[in-house]
Amino acid sequence: MTDHQGTNPAVQDLTLNNGVTIPQLGFGVFQVPPEETRTAVGQALKAGYRHIDTAAAYRNEDGVGAAIAESGLARDELFITTKLRNGEQGNARAAFEASRRALGVDWVDLYLIHWPVPSQGLFTQAWHELESLYAEGRIRAIGVSNFLPDHLEELLANSTVVPAVNQIEIHPTFQQADVAHKSRSHGIAVEAYSPLGQGQDLDNEVIAQLAQAHQATPAQIVLAWHLGLGNIVIPKTVSPERMAENLAAARLELSESELQSISALEAGGRTGADPAEAAFTQM
Ligand code: NDP
Repeated sequence: MTDHQGTNPAVQDLTLNNGVTIPQLGFGVFQVPPEETRTAVGQALKAGYRHIDTAAAYRNEDGVGAAIAESGLARDELFITTKLRNGEQGNARAAFEASRRALGVDWVDLYLIHWPVPSQGLFTQAWHELESLYAEGRIRAIGVSNFLPDHLEELLANSTVVPAVNQIEIHPTFQQADVAHKSRSHGIAVEAYSPLGQGQDLDNEVIAQLAQAHQATPAQIVLAWHLGLGNIVIPKTVSPERMAENLAAARLELSESELQSISALEAGGRTGADPAEAAFTQM
């Protein structure tokens, strides 16, 4: 296994706390229908994405796997993330193996606990299983998703490996600065999901003005903001034009004051579930 080789010069590699590198801009496939995933991921790989974010709960890992197999790309050129379903936290080893097989890969680059589900009381047990899989070399980096500061504290107090990543909802109108700060203070990289606010943050006036000034699109401005702040980012689209548009955001640089003008848009606008309460086990 070698480190990921950056093939798209515009997208930077970030180094995680265990030395593994991750392309800072990737492609998410939440809500991409299973039957369309092979095509969409194939188009994303052709466009130049080398980092794909899926989850067992999205029921499209096999479509991701089919696209990887068809791409002809070497495995170590790709960075593949998948996630442990809430209902499988007591069964993490078998769940990981099912995901790995669906993806058709020998190893997964990043495996995340999808939600803490504090009411279930199982995330530390699941983490210990991820630590074992990591020690065995089946996973190159392990991390969490939707972990709030108290979940991180509980995990860190009862484990050996510090998560490499915390994947959380972040976009201009919902930034979770406290969670991002807490994560970074422990060397945990911040990965922004729903980075465009599922499209809802794109018609903001401040963002529109910056788009005009940079001859860019609103989505590119929002993605450049994330990249400028050091977030890993995984926008989703099924449109090849938007795939290229989003990827090109890696070439856009915003000034410190422009970054701050977007950071000032915080409005408590959560689009997803609250991790303190989310307990759906079908996920
Ligand atoms: P995004 O913020 O990525 O927004 C996706 C929406 O924006 C889609 O409706 C898409 O439409 C639209 N869109 C994409 N690009 C553009 C563009 N350039 N211009 C205008 N509209 C655009 O939301 P997601 O919730 O999908 O988040 C991204 C990824 O994050 C997911 O796919 C998943 O991998 C991950 N995620 C993780 C979660 C977790 O719990 N860990 C929860 C939610 C997401 P269209 O497809 O029609 O182009």
